[in-house]
Amino acid sequence: MQIHKLPATDAIASLRTTLSGLSNVEAQRRLREYGANSLAQVSRKPLWLRFLKEFTQLFSIILWIAAGLAFMAEWWAPGQGMARLGITVVVVILVSGIFSFWQEHRVEQTLAALSKLLPQQVDVLREGKTSRLPREQLVPGDIVLLAQGDHVPADCRLIEGFGVKVNNAAITGESLPQTREAGPAGEDDQALGGKNILLAGTSIAAGEAKALVFATGPRTEFGKIAHLTQSSGQATSPLRQEIAHLSRLIGIFAILIGLTFFVIGRIAGIPLWDAFIFAIGIIIAMVPEGLQPTLTLALVLATQRMARRNVLIRHLPSVETLGSTTVICTDKTGTLTKNIMTVKQVVLGGTSYSAGDQSKRELLAKDYRPFFMVARFCHDLREGEQHGSQVFLGDPMESALVEMAVQAISSPSDYRKLDEIPFDADRMRQSTVHETPEGPVLLCKGAPEMVTTLCTRILTGGKIIVFQEEARSETRTAQEAMAFQGMRVLALAYRPLPVSWQHDAAMEEDLIFAGLAGLEDPPRPEVPEAIRKCHQAGIRVIMVTGDHPSTAQAIAREIGLVRSGKPLVVSGEKLRDFSDSQLGLALDETEIIFARVTADQKMRIVEALKQKQQVVAVTGDGVNDAPALKNAHIGIAMGITGTDVAREAADMVLLDDNFASIVNAIEEGRAVFENIRKFLTYILAHNVPELIPYLAFMLFRIPLPLSPIQILSVDMGTDSLTALGLGIEKPDPKVMEQPPRSQQERLFNWPLVLRAYFFLGLIEAVAAMAGFFFVLQSGGWLYGQKLAMDDPLYLQATAACLSTIIVMQIVNVFLCRSRSRSIFSMNPFRNSLIWWGVLLEITLLLFIDYTPWGNAIFGTAPISGKAWLFILPFALVLVVLEELRKWLARNLTNLCIRQKPGYKV
Ligand code: ADP
Ligand code: MG
Repeated sequence: MQIHKLPATDAIASLRTTLSGLSNVEAQRRLREYGANSLAQVSRKPLWLRFLKEFTQLFSIILWIAAGLAFMAEWWAPGQGMARLGITVVVVILVSGIFSFWQEHRVEQTLAALSKLLPQQVDVLREGKTSRLPREQLVPGDIVLLAQGDHVPADCRLIEGFGVKVNNAAITGESLPQTREAGPAGEDDQALGGKNILLAGTSIAAGEAKALVFATGPRTEFGKIAHLTQSSGQATSPLRQEIAHLSRLIGIFAILIGLTFFVIGRIAGIPLWDAFIFAIGIIIAMVPEGLQPTLTLALVLATQRMARRNVLIRHLPSVETLGSTTVICTDKTGTLTKNIMTVKQVVLGGTSYSAGDQSKRELLAKDYRPFFMVARFCHDLREGEQHGSQVFLGDPMESALVEMAVQAISSPSDYRKLDEIPFDADRMRQSTVHETPEGPVLLCKGAPEMVTTLCTRILTGGKIIVFQEEARSETRTAQEAMAFQGMRVLALAYRPLPVSWQHDAAMEEDLIFAGLAGLEDPPRPEVPEAIRKCHQAGIRVIMVTGDHPSTAQAIAREIGLVRSGKPLVVSGEKLRDFSDSQLGLALDETEIIFARVTADQKMRIVEALKQKQQVVAVTGDGVNDAPALKNAHIGIAMGITGTDVAREAADMVLLDDNFASIVNAIEEGRAVFENIRKFLTYILAHNVPELIPYLAFMLFRIPLPLSPIQILSVDMGTDSLTALGLGIEKPDPKVMEQPPRSQQERLFNWPLVLRAYFFLGLIEAVAAMAGFFFVLQSGGWLYGQKLAMDDPLYLQATAACLSTIIVMQIVNVFLCRSRSRSIFSMNPFRNSLIWWGVLLEITLLLFIDYTPWGNAIFGTAPISGKAWLFILPFALVLVVLEELRKWLARNLTNLCIRQKPGYKV
C-alpha cells in the first residue's frame, strides 16, 4: 500500500478507521490479530550454555587444574588423601558456580524488573477521547498525538501537523531534523523518506502532530533492522573492570607464589606430596573466588534500592560516578518546586488584581476578554480522561491558566486551532492561531521579555492604545514585584489576523499586549532538607533555570539554596557576553544562580564546570537539553515531565521529578563504593590466616595447620554470606557528612591493603596459629615431632586453627562495617543479611567440628571447652585493637583537618 501518496482522508479510510480513532472493541480485536507493538527479544544464549559458562571462568579453570592434578596424584601414589582433595575442589567449583549463576540470575531479573518501571506511554485517540496507553497496545489504524521530544511509537502517516520536524538519525543516520507535512507525497517520493511519514524509532524534534499508525511491532521499518542493533552488549563499568583486573592480578600472583614455593619446598627437601598440597593450598587461599559475582550483585542491588527511592539508573556505571558527584546543576520548575500551579495575580491595564477576587471578575472579563481568550486557548493541553473524569493532560501551568479562564469567561469549548508556533525553551513563548466568529486570531503567551518586545499596542480598559515606554516600565515593575515573591510570570498577547494570513515568523509581530499572569508554584517540602544534605556533603547545587532571575532568586531563598544577602545571579543575556574565563571565575562564587538561560547555555555551564575538574550532574527535560545531559558526567532526566528524547540521553531518570531523589541516589552511590571496600577488606583479611600456616609449615617444619579443604570451607562456605551482606549495606548515616570522593581515588588503595592484610589479617593469623599450637602443646606435642594425618591430636589442632579463623571473621564482619566508625556507634541490626551470615558461620562451624560427617570431610576432630576458652579472647583482642586503630584514625584526621588553614568542615 502506498499510504504516503494518498490524501489524509483516504489514508484514514484505507485503514478502516476515522478521525476520532478506533473503537475500543475494534482496537482490542486488532491487538489480537497483529500482536503487541513491540519487538520480540532477540533470543539469548540457552540457559544450559550460560550455566556452563560459570564453570569455565578463569578461577574455575585454575581450580579444575588443581583438581585434575590431585586425581593424577592419587593414581600415581594412592593413599595420600589426594582423591579427597580432588573431590572437594570439584565440589567447590560446583558450589561457587551455582552461587555465581544464582547471583547473575538475580542481576538479570532485577534489571528486567527495573526496565519495566518506566513504560513508554503514548497519547492515543479512541472513540473521540484521548488516553495514555503503553506503546505496546498500539494497533494499525490508531490515531496518535505526538509532540516535541516524543519517540514515534510505530510507523505513522502524518494527518495533521504544526511545524513538525523529525530526527531520523536512528534509521537513516541523517542527523539534521527534517520537516514533515500532512499532505500527500508526490509520485516519485520514496515511502521511507516520504514527507508525511513518521517512522518508529525516530523522534519528533519540533512541533505537534496527529498521526495515523499503519505498521506496528516487527512490521515497522525499525522492526526490520532492529535485530542488528539489539545485540549490543551491556556496558561494563570502570569499577567492574577494575575488579576484574584486580582479581586476575591476584589470581596470577597466587599461582606464581604457589609454584615458587613448590620449587623452594622441593629444594628444601620437602616430600613431593607435601609440597604439592602446599602449592595448591596457597593458590586456593589467595584466589578471590566470589569477588566478581558479589560485586555485580552489589551494584545491581544498589540500583534496585535507588529505584525504590524513585531513581531509575539507565547505565550501571553511573552508580559509581554518582558517588563522586561534586556539583548538581538543577532545573527549578518541577524539580525544586512541585509543578502544581495556580494563578495568584493578574495585571491588566497596569493594575494588579488578586486572582481570587470574585467581585472584579465579571468587570474584567468584559474589558479584558482577549486576555482570558489567550489563557483559555493558547496551549498544548489534550482533553482526556483520568480516573473517569474529564481532565486536561499536559503542562500544569497551562492547566492553571485554562482553569482561571473558564471561571472568568464563557466561550464555546473550542475554537478550532488552525496553526501553531510551538513553545520551546529557547524561544520561551508559544503562539496559536484560532478560527473565531470575528475571523482568525493569533494568541501568544510566554516569558514577558520575549513577548512584550513583540507588542506595539496594549489593551487597557477595553480600549487598544499604543504601548508607550511608560506602560512598558510599569509592566516591568509589576513583573518584578510578582517575581520577587517567587511567582512565575507570563505575558499574554494577541492579534487579529487578516483573512489572507500565512504561516511565517511575521505572524508573531505587531501584537497587542493583554496582561500578565503571576503563577504560584510552591517548593517541594523535601527540598530544603535535601539541599542542606548536599551542603553538608560538600556538593554544590547550582540552579539553572529558564525562569526570571527574581523568581529564581526568591525560590532559591525559600529552599535554603541562597543564604547570603546577595547571590550572584547570571542571566542568559549576561552569560552571552561572558568569556570562558569570566564564566570560570563566576563559577567560583559560592552562591550562583543562572536564570533565563537557554539549553545551549546550560551545556556551556556544564563544560565550564568540567574544565574545573568537577564531577557534574545535570537535570533536563526537553529535547534541547539532550546534549547537556549526554555531556555531563551524570545526565538526569525527568520521568514525569521529561520527553522521551531527554530520557534516552540521560544516565538516570527521576521517577518523581524530585530534586531530593537525586540526593538520595548520590547517597546510595557513595554507599556502594564504601560497601565494595568493606567486603574487599573482609575477604582479603581472611587470606592472611590462610596463608601464614603454609609459610610456617615450610619454614619451621611443623605439621600443616590448615588443609586446602579447610581453606575452601572458609572462602566458599562460612564467609560467603557475610561478605555479600557487607556488599549490600544500607548507606551509613554519616556517608553524607564527608566531602565527595576524588575521582582519582582507586578502590584498592594502600590504606585498604594495609588494614586488611597487615592489621586485621595479621591479628587473625596470630590467633589461628596460637590456637593450633595451644591444642598441640596441651596434647603433649614437642617441636620437631611429626604427626600422622589422621592422628587425633593433629585433627583437633587443625580444627582449632580453622575454628579460630571462623570466630575471628564472625567478629571481623562487624568491624568491617566501617573504616573509621566504632562498632558501638553503629546499629548492629540494620543489616539482617549479616546476621544470617553469622548464623551460617556458626552452623557450619558446629557441623565441621562436631559431626562425624563434618569431621570426615574436612579432616577435623571435636575440640575441647578448654581450647575454646583459649580461642575466644582473641576475638576480643581483635575488637579492642581495631577500635583503637579507628580511634587513632579519627583523631589523627581531625587533627590534620584542623591544621589545614581555611578548610571548612
Ligand atoms: P524552567 O527552568 O523554570 O523549567 P523553562 O525553560 O521551562 O523554565 O521555561 C522558561 C520560560 O518560558 C518560563 O519562565 C516561562 O516564562 C516560559 N514558558 C514556559 N512554559 C511555557 C509554555 N508552555 N508556553 C509559553 N511560555 C512558557
Ligand atoms: Mg521547564
